Amino acid sequence: MMNIEKKLLQFIHDKVDFDYSFYIKERMTCKICGKEIKDGQKICNSCKIKENKQNKFNERVEKIINSKVNFKKFGWGVQISKILNMTSQASIRWIKKNMKDFYEKECVKSKNSKLN
Ligand SMILES: [Zn+2]
Repeated sequence: MMNIEKKLLQFIHDKVDFDYSFYIKERMTCKICGKEIKDGQKICNSCKIKENKQNKFNERVEKIINSKVNFKKFGWGVQISKILNMTSQASIRWIKKNMKDFYEKECVKSKNSKLN
């Protein structure tokens, strides 16, 4: 009888003292902003959105620079628009806004802003 009681007490004691900490996953924080994030993520959603935007931006710049479009020739807007999958007006506007130096130095400008 005594023995069983002891065992029972020991059992309860073990349960209470049991280290559950490994069940509680380590708090994860965003590598960029340090905000707490869900398990399985490396960066938080807002940083992910920012990063995606940055990636898309970089991708576009790369596409433009690596394209074989001759920006010294009229009609580059139409040509680059096919590469960027945008309208020529939007492409030109984007380059003007985001790649100002490139636009000023490399691109021939038409008086008709719809063309270049
Ligand atoms: Zn973040």
